[in-house]
Amino acid sequence: MIILENVSLKKYNTFGIEAKARYFCEIRSVNQLSAALQLEGYPDFFILGGGSNMLITRDLDYLVLYINIKGIKKVWEDDNRVRIQINAGENWHRMVLWTLERNYGGLENLSLMPGNTRSAPSQNIGAYGVELSDTFVDCEAMEIASRELITFSKEACRFGYRDSYFKNEGKGKFIITSVQLELTKKDHRKQLDYGAIASQLQLQGIVDPSIKDISNTVISIRQSKLPDPEELGDSGSFFKNPVINRKEFDKFIDTYPTAPFYKITEQEYKIPAAWLIEQCGFKGKRFGDAGIHEHQALVLVNYGNASGQQLIDLAHLISDTVYEKFQIAIVPEVNIIK
Ligand SMILES: Cc1cc2nc3c(=O)[nH]c(=O)nc-3n(C[C@H](O)[C@H](O)[C@H](O)COP(=O)(O)OP(=O)(O)OC[C@H]3O[C@@H](n4cnc5c(N)ncnc54)[C@H](O)[C@@H]3O)c2cc1C
Repeated sequence: MIILENVSLKKYNTFGIEAKARYFCEIRSVNQLSAALQLEGYPDFFILGGGSNMLITRDLDYLVLYINIKGIKKVWEDDNRVRIQINAGENWHRMVLWTLERNYGGLENLSLMPGNTRSAPSQNIGAYGVELSDTFVDCEAMEIASRELITFSKEACRFGYRDSYFKNEGKGKFIITSVQLELTKKDHRKQLDYGAIASQLQLQGIVDPSIKDISNTVISIRQSKLPDPEELGDSGSFFKNPVINRKEFDKFIDTYPTAPFYKITEQEYKIPAAWLIEQCGFKGKRFGDAGIHEHQALVLVNYGNASGQQLIDLAHLISDTVYEKFQIAIVPEVNIIK
């Protein structure tokens, strides 16, 4: 195990923020992780995955553990289903392609999502009508205090909208080391209702799409809508879509009758944060090197040398303006590293 000093984190976070890690250690196995947690002289540490869901606002004056434990294996199968175990450091999209090559269904709508597999449960990643929790069986995590490996069932993970136990009571207590998913081998449950998937497939003349067709369609929709972090620093959707109660909703829709919304239950309504931000005139605006993407108001971007603090200031300006206009609070989906 090698510990490096004063390592630039620019290439380790998709926002491309320049910040330094005082100490940096790449972790390639569970044993190395256990050993790293016992190192003397490094009382504080920070866990880094693919860096695609974080905004670093300053140099990290402690030991950064870069979780890069690789490996995917089949653990069980019958005629219809297969269970796979994926280690935390596997790149999510490469893993999705691995499943599609074997015609395993369930992850096709989650194609081209940046980041590593480990972060998927804490965020309960989701896109195009599918969430990780739809295929999740369990995950293994090392408890930081005891260095014991603990298995968390789906129930124990308490998944919600971009939310889980690991973002709440379990925050800072566990390091996820692997995830088990159950996928279909035939009779795939195809989800075509969300976004432009069905219309895109129709345009291509595909009537009965394979899971590979669905994945290709999701990839092309995402590429047309979202910036590629390799070209423009970003972290995907910066804010969560706010959920408001019936009373708030009635008042809101009375004032803005053409506003888009999604009814969750009789009492809960989700409002697209992108629409709220766009109505405040932020879409495509640039403040120095920090800005809002020209095609997607939910995505904050680093045009080159923005600092984490500049992006945070912009995020505050946006959420304050949205609140002033709509009395609706929007909160970051991205982890702010202060
Ligand atoms: C262009 C773009 C599009 C995106 N689109 C979507 C989308 O459609 N849907 C969606 O849900 N997300 C989306 N995201 C967000 C992101 O891809 C996911 O949240 C992803 O799961 C983050 O993984 P990561 O490995 O990069 O996490 P990181 O950013 O490395 O880490 C996130 C948090 O988890 C902690 N952490 C990292 N590894 C571990 C570990 N092993 N144990 C414990 N804690 C750990 C970190 O300390 C940090 O607080 C998008 C991001 C980008 C850049």
